[in-house]
Amino acid sequence: MDCLLCGSDQKRIFARVESFGFPLVYYQCENCGLIYQSKKESRAANPEFYRRTYRQIYQSCEEPTPKDLWVQEQRAKHLIDILRHHLEISPEKVLDIGASAGVLLQQFRKSFSSDVVGVEPGDAYRAYAEESGIEMKESMEALLASDHGKFDLVNMSHVLEHLAEPVEELKRIILELLKDGGILLLEVPNFFAHDSYELAHLACYTPHTLREVLRQAGFRLVLLEKHGVPRSKLLNLYLTGIAKASPEAHGTIEIKKDRFVGFKRNVSMLYRRLMQKFFPHKAWLPIPVIDQK
Ligand SMILES: [Zn+2]
Repeated sequence: MDCLLCGSDQKRIFARVESFGFPLVYYQCENCGLIYQSKKESRAANPEFYRRTYRQIYQSCEEPTPKDLWVQEQRAKHLIDILRHHLEISPEKVLDIGASAGVLLQQFRKSFSSDVVGVEPGDAYRAYAEESGIEMKESMEALLASDHGKFDLVNMSHVLEHLAEPVEELKRIILELLKDGGILLLEVPNFFAHDSYELAHLACYTPHTLREVLRQAGFRLVLLEKHGVPRSKLLNLYLTGIAKASPEAHGTIEIKKDRFVGFKRNVSMLYRRLMQKFFPHKAWLPIPVIDQK
């Protein structure tokens, strides 16, 4: 069981890169086409890694930084905008898995008067969210043990690419966390625009493999938006999806292979370099970091 999406052991080396001083190997699954790190090789597959090391390595500190909060704020506004267009009724109960500093949950409270809960393993981020009165859990196990019932909407922004068992985790959301007719909102880096290769990114999703991982778990994508919010006007760095449990999902679902991934990656990275060269101010938007010190 090697591939994070289909479980196949058939793979070839796709890229060797370095991230935060650690050498990484990305494989491509010969069966489904997913680009991934081997669970056996990657230190990011270890849950303990996330408790402290992750934030330290990524941000050189454990506390939420002004830059990080600004990015979360912009992402949250964008997600709320998407939902306003696609939801018929306001979600009463909302769960955010990987809730970080709780910025999105605050927006849910403000925009939809939702009852909110967050799951966040990072101690300092969880404490930050709790300070604004948001109920937070440190793990999925703690949430499930707390008898919270089911939710109208579950969000997973920039989480799926970190998971070693994405299909299993998504199945658990359908079985244990979503009400009938509930919505899964998710966002991942887009392999056809975003660097994607990072120590903690176990899988690199394309629009195709994102659809497939959801389908394998019994979800159906009802919306897929490619966009650069809040970092770029020209590069579709992120994939945002709205998914619902699919009534016809029973038994084994045949995998549809992602084709020409290497070719599409090369073309999209060439496009990215050209945009950066000719339209640098649109390709990368500035982050107005407020210096709080
Ligand atoms: Zn596979």
